Amino acid sequence: MNLIFLGPPGAGKGTQAKITSKTYGILHISTGDIFRKAVADRTELGKQVKEIMERGDLVPDNLTISLVKERLTEDDVKQGYILDGFPRTVLQAEKLAEFQRIDAVINFRLSKEEIIRRLSGRRICSGCGAIYHITDYPPEVPGICDKCGEKLYHREDDKVEAVEKRLEVYNKQTEPLISFYRKRNLLYDIDSSINPENSEQQIMKILDEINK
Ligand code: AMP
Repeated sequence: MNLIFLGPPGAGKGTQAKITSKTYGILHISTGDIFRKAVADRTELGKQVKEIMERGDLVPDNLTISLVKERLTEDDVKQGYILDGFPRTVLQAEKLAEFQRIDAVINFRLSKEEIIRRLSGRRICSGCGAIYHITDYPPEVPGICDKCGEKLYHREDDKVEAVEKRLEVYNKQTEPLISFYRKRNLLYDIDSSINPENSEQQIMKILDEINK
């Protein structure tokens, strides 16, 4: 099963991709995570994308497409995968269609106000990547991960100014993908405003239906 999780930043794609990946035994590929790791490891790629990411812009298509294309040639993708955060432009979607068969696109729907509230309160573990929220899912000890004890951080691009920018970029560049995939009968909407458990149930219902 090859899936795409599509939606604005903060809609819960990453959280749900981790869950779905475990439930169905398929790989979770997040382009955002790949870029963040490159920045943290100070690789050549990391140097190229650091500033772009911090201001909430998109990494150029050619760079992103070749990165994903290469990742999808590895053996572990044969069991199926979830693309989280890719494609994000029509060109990326067109190129992907040239070399991969996609079974379904899950479209996460959420209001702008809720996106800003979620992202400005989101905290990530610097050790294991676990995701928290300062009021919705706070850790037991503020600023410390319950699972591995490492420090939590606020992503530079989750700060209000960058979030506004990311939303603008999303509306302009990524939202057209909704009609792109709807036309191809691949799009399934979920309402991600309720809570993670509810989103998980909606996704499972769709995937179980597809797998019948
Ligand atoms: P994310 O964690 O998915 O919100 O991604 C964080 C940042 O990584 C984005 O704001 C972009 O700067 C970059 N990025 C991730 N995926 C893509 C993509 N498919 N195309 C271009 N830039 C991307």
